[in-house]
Amino acid sequence: MLELAIIGGGPAGLSAGLYATRGGLKEVVMFEKGMPGGQITSSSEMENYPGVAEVKSGFDFMMPWQEQCFRFGLKHEMAEVVRVKRKDNHFVIVLSNQQEVESKAVIIATGGSPKRSNVKGEDVYWGKGVSSCATCDGFFYKNKEVAVLGGGDTAVEESIYLAKICSKVTLIHRRNAFRASPVTLERAKKEEKIEFLTPYGIEEICGDASGVTGLKLKNLENESLKEIKVDGIFVLIGFNVNNSVLIQEDGSTLCAMNEYGQAIVNLKMETNIPGLFVAGDLRMDAPKQVVCAAADGATAALSAIDFIEHHK
Ligand SMILES: Cc1cc2nc3c(=O)[nH]c(=O)nc-3n(C[C@H](O)[C@H](O)[C@H](O)COP(=O)(O)OP(=O)(O)OC[C@H]3O[C@@H](n4cnc5c(N)ncnc54)[C@H](O)[C@@H]3O)c2cc1C
Repeated sequence: MLELAIIGGGPAGLSAGLYATRGGLKEVVMFEKGMPGGQITSSSEMENYPGVAEVKSGFDFMMPWQEQCFRFGLKHEMAEVVRVKRKDNHFVIVLSNQQEVESKAVIIATGGSPKRSNVKGEDVYWGKGVSSCATCDGFFYKNKEVAVLGGGDTAVEESIYLAKICSKVTLIHRRNAFRASPVTLERAKKEEKIEFLTPYGIEEICGDASGVTGLKLKNLENESLKEIKVDGIFVLIGFNVNNSVLIQEDGSTLCAMNEYGQAIVNLKMETNIPGLFVAGDLRMDAPKQVVCAAADGATAALSAIDFIEHHK
């Protein structure tokens, strides 16, 4: 039986692996369905990890993380986990090849991915003016004009965040009413740099070799067309959490989850199931930043070491 199984090899999973192995656990396996590194490997520029002054691609940034973990004894199994189940006082990891692996404790760090709008031009300019994270990329548009697509809390909050950095923020939403909380919406309306454009949809994200240059928009009430010039567009229409490993055969969930399908954890990354920890973008209220996911992974590993020590 493993001492610790880590599901997912992004910043949270790798950081958990580092702390678990350096902390003395012997049988630690990280199950990752693809190359370790996580979502950030799809980013062309990463410049907000404290202490790393050099701007790197997400892929280059993450490569040393796995090397460092493997040096301390973390084992990597390239496998997709279908489900994590509870059995007596331990866990069973079910892999997509039907193999089952038992473990005393489990850290789930399967992350997620931002939802895409599938608008024409989105794929072409993804990472070249189209972004899903204002905290990550807002600074690249200092004193420039940007647009935000979305109508929920994230879209409105990130518009307020961007208004502090950019010269203008056009908030585009397909309905006149917003899902965002009234308080957040009021704050956004008081922000002079934010222009509300509703009920509009994006017909096309336009650009050239330098990246995004503008948007073709359609008024969804009267079908009139409009073009605006922007240097960037933030698509903030939701986030898919990879929580399928927590769903049991009868449809119930292994641990308590909130209305967004995120795992409910405390500050030790403990779920309501003893020995089961969740770290990174899969947990409730995750800031969705590499540094935060890494910190969660370290915290979860320290909690797992403590759990195993007290359940010998
Ligand atoms: C385009 C882009 C740009 C970004 N830019 C920045 C930035 O500049 N700065 C910043 O701080 N953050 C940035 N982020 C956010 C950051 O990447 C995430 O917050 C962070 O990667 C979350 O780490 P995680 O380990 O929780 O999850 P993830 O990075 O999502 O890693 C989860 C891992 O689990 C694996 N996995 C999922 N399901 C299974 C399964 N069933 N079995 C086995 N393995 C599984 C996945 O393959 C993946 O490798 C960006 C994100 C994106 C998408």
